[in-house]
Amino acid sequence: MTHHVSLSDEGRNLKMPDEGMLPPSAEAPRFSSLAGLDWLQMDWQKELRNNVTTIDELKDYLPLGEEETGLRQVAGIHPLNIPRYYLSLIDPEDPRDPIRRQCVPDAQELVVAGAMGETTADPYGDDLYNKGNGVLHKYSYTALVVATEFCAMYCRHCFRKRMVGLPNEQTVKNFQKAAEYISDHPEITNVVVSGGDPFMLPTQVLKKMLDALRDIPHLNHVRIGSRAPVTYPLRFFDDELISAIQSFNREKTLFVPTHFNHAREITPASTAAVQRIRSAGVTVNNQAVFLRGVNDTVQDLVDLMNGLLRIGVNPYYLYQCMPVARVRHHFQVPLKEGVDIVDQARQQFDGYAKRFKFIIGHKIGKIEICGRIGDKLILKQIHAPAENQKEASRMLVRKLTETGGWLDDLPEAALQ
Ligand code: SF4
Repeated sequence: MTHHVSLSDEGRNLKMPDEGMLPPSAEAPRFSSLAGLDWLQMDWQKELRNNVTTIDELKDYLPLGEEETGLRQVAGIHPLNIPRYYLSLIDPEDPRDPIRRQCVPDAQELVVAGAMGETTADPYGDDLYNKGNGVLHKYSYTALVVATEFCAMYCRHCFRKRMVGLPNEQTVKNFQKAAEYISDHPEITNVVVSGGDPFMLPTQVLKKMLDALRDIPHLNHVRIGSRAPVTYPLRFFDDELISAIQSFNREKTLFVPTHFNHAREITPASTAAVQRIRSAGVTVNNQAVFLRGVNDTVQDLVDLMNGLLRIGVNPYYLYQCMPVARVRHHFQVPLKEGVDIVDQARQQFDGYAKRFKFIIGHKIGKIEICGRIGDKLILKQIHAPAENQKEASRMLVRKLTETGGWLDDLPEAALQ
């Protein structure tokens, strides 16, 4: 089961503080203490307890300036949860730092509708395909299992609201029932174990989950979706975890889709985490989200995709930001602007870097944004729910508008 941000109007008229109001170099003393830490030597479970979860703690590390009052309000609605490792990547002197933007609350999250238009609680249509025990079965061949709602970090652009995790025993029981569902549906060729972040579960729990999938004959492969290589690389220095995924991968192919959004997230620690996963023979693919103020320039995308290839991660998807309340207003880039940025970046990529698809993850299915011809946006649907199978490879044409950021915003159009 997934949970989504609620739609309400509170704060719609709130006056936004000017980001430029931050004091330029009032580095809080504790921030510099992060520089000397050897993250990869730490016990991953113990270090989680040092996550920054309150505005008061955050103030110890970063200057917040005049925005502090707004942030307290935001943190009351969307929890704050930042690992110290990820926090250490921020440039404390830059209020527009792309790392900061992904983890530090922003008073703009109080805006529910805003200039970008309407929002929805369920942009991907998850609720319709919920089969219980965490199973979402939207495309006939793929089952997605929400194994946990817990993540190492709470990303500000997330479209799934973080929930408190269930006790481990219950998590395993639920997963076993999910595996029974998968076993009973031979049309399912692959499983995405997702969340939340499954790698934040104890290794023993994860092992039991993988055991439940190992012997299902109709599964070609399994994916474990995780942002931990980016936000919490220390997790992958648990030898037992690496041998668990290695042993599973010997019997059934395992992939790890991850979520790097900016080249600055490619650090020695995250590179080492990727190397550990790859040392188990597991392929790592990247699913970035296209975000205003994070990676919305040609250079950002060039550096990200090329940087990923350097560390052995395949660029796979670049998602258009979903129309979710408290996210869309300040993170979504209009499609008219976005398609040009992505296409200009593509011109600079070698064949492997340009393998990624620019994607709208829509209720009706996954839709690739192919490009534009004049003011027409050319799209190709690549997945559709079982009941609309015929739509799975159709082409679509929509008229670009100045602010349209989602399929539904753009009027249907003919090619001529
Ligand atoms: S790691 Fe993924 S699921 Fe978790 S908060 Fe970030 S975007 Fe959401």
